[in-house]
Amino acid sequence: MRRGTGGIAGDDYTRGVSDASRRARTTSARGVTPVRPSLLSATAVKNAVVVGAGPCGLLASLELVQNGASVTLVEQRNGYTRPIHWNVRADLLHRIAETCPGALQRVLERLGAIESAESIDATTTTLPPEKLEALRKDKPQRRVTIGPSGLVLQQKGVAAPPADAQRARFGGRTMLKSASVGQILTVDLENILFGELERIAAQPKGDRPSVTILRNHRLELVDSADKKGFKACTAYEVTERTEPGGKAVFAATGKRIRLGTPDLIVSCDGANSQMRTMAGIARTHVSAPTRFIAASIASAAISAEAPHGGLARRRYAEVTNPEDGKVHGLRQVVLGITTAPQSWVLVEVPPWVDLTTKEATADFFYAHAAPVVGRSEAELRKLPVTWGPNPFGIQQYISATAVHGENVIFAGDAVGSAHFLTSGGVMVATVPHIFALEKLLANLADGVPRKIALDRYDRWALAGTKEWLRLGFGEFGRRGAQTETFESAMAAALERLRHARGSA
Ligand SMILES: Cc1cc2nc3c(=O)[nH]c(=O)nc-3n(C[C@H](O)[C@H](O)[C@H](O)COP(=O)(O)OP(=O)(O)OC[C@H]3O[C@@H](n4cnc5c(N)ncnc54)[C@H](O)[C@@H]3O)c2cc1C
Repeated sequence: MRRGTGGIAGDDYTRGVSDASRRARTTSARGVTPVRPSLLSATAVKNAVVVGAGPCGLLASLELVQNGASVTLVEQRNGYTRPIHWNVRADLLHRIAETCPGALQRVLERLGAIESAESIDATTTTLPPEKLEALRKDKPQRRVTIGPSGLVLQQKGVAAPPADAQRARFGGRTMLKSASVGQILTVDLENILFGELERIAAQPKGDRPSVTILRNHRLELVDSADKKGFKACTAYEVTERTEPGGKAVFAATGKRIRLGTPDLIVSCDGANSQMRTMAGIARTHVSAPTRFIAASIASAAISAEAPHGGLARRRYAEVTNPEDGKVHGLRQVVLGITTAPQSWVLVEVPPWVDLTTKEATADFFYAHAAPVVGRSEAELRKLPVTWGPNPFGIQQYISATAVHGENVIFAGDAVGSAHFLTSGGVMVATVPHIFALEKLLANLADGVPRKIALDRYDRWALAGTKEWLRLGFGEFGRRGAQTETFESAMAAALERLRHARGSA
């Protein structure tokens, strides 16, 4: 089965990938056994360091192992604590099926497949519960199953198309058509993928690729002494402490592990990438900043209404700015899932609202969460909260490049972010970027010159990011006050990056 044959701006993503390496990787894709290194050419990536064990770093590590590389995964955290529900699109499941087929069944078991999905457009801040109910009942039901020809997303009452036809091909906009199929808890997805890596790490080290996991470590880059343009690296141990506000703070213990000069360093260390700063790569915003308050409600507040899986409900409310009389749009989102009795609620805060106290934050949250959850404010306040309500700021941004020198590449939120309202955060981190990594490894194994292979990686990773930023731009712009188009915002962002490069 071929994969990844789409293209952006005329690119042929299979160019330079020989039948031999494709065959080798297809064989390995059937099981979790890594491909034998002897099948790959001398230019293949044999050892790699991955920074960050979020969804991107975990899948990048598994993709590298499958391609015959020994991997050291460096993660600053000790465990997984994020209380987020992730909305999952079909392509993420396809990617897991390709990179790590052994994990798919477990992901499906933890996935709250979408029973119904709806988007509510309301122009008032209150919506009667009967109206919500009517909207919910109208929506088609979907199921995710594994059929004889692979993963199938089936819509109730509609014959399922063949799995191949649904396979989103990475190629700009085609991937944006990937449907939402359910929700999963962050901790579940990360633990499943992490478990696959731990299983490989526990295998006796022989002639097959190995996995080493360094938790509570960060990475430092220095110029390689023996390979021009390459970076050598050292992992240093850190301890983690959580501040009263919930912020994690890391301190170096002084212990260090030299990791030499790997063939590839894949930096997946998230939106505030320290590695990106270390490499001196500029990033710039594409949209205006937006504030949200989030909370994880320890109750089946809405998941009880989706007895067979997950439910996503979105609402759009309009409020008037008392200062200038202009109408401002606010997004409210709730995600529920039956595999865990928790609801993840997000409400947007307009710029003029002052949230200096915890009480003000809670008051705003409950007032604006109530209509989208479908409970009264008083009822909602009685439900236990496991996290939040906490305010956070978010802004769309993009990095100047996804490549640094001869052996460092960036992926996931480290390249660009804030497409999460469109459920694009996990998608970008795991689909176009892992696709680009897969092609980079194939190109290098086939002897494509490093500079050309890295240049292609850079273009593919940035192109995938931009397409999701485009989709999210309408969501992240100031509703009601937006005059800029995505093209003009992106052009201005690229101009700022050109300046930053020029003055570096
Ligand atoms: C409130 C909220 C809700 C969201 N909801 C959704 C959603 O519904 N759907 C969706 O698709 N996306 C959603 N997202 C976005 C999504 O979480 C991110 O896009 C996604 O996690 C990015 O994956 P990543 O692997 O690139 O980075 P991350 O998930 O951020 O992982 C980075 C990892 O690197 C580690 N790290 C960081 N710095 C270092 C360092 N110096 N050394 C070692 N390790 C380091 C971190 O501890 C972390 O484990 C949401 C985000 C937020 C904040």
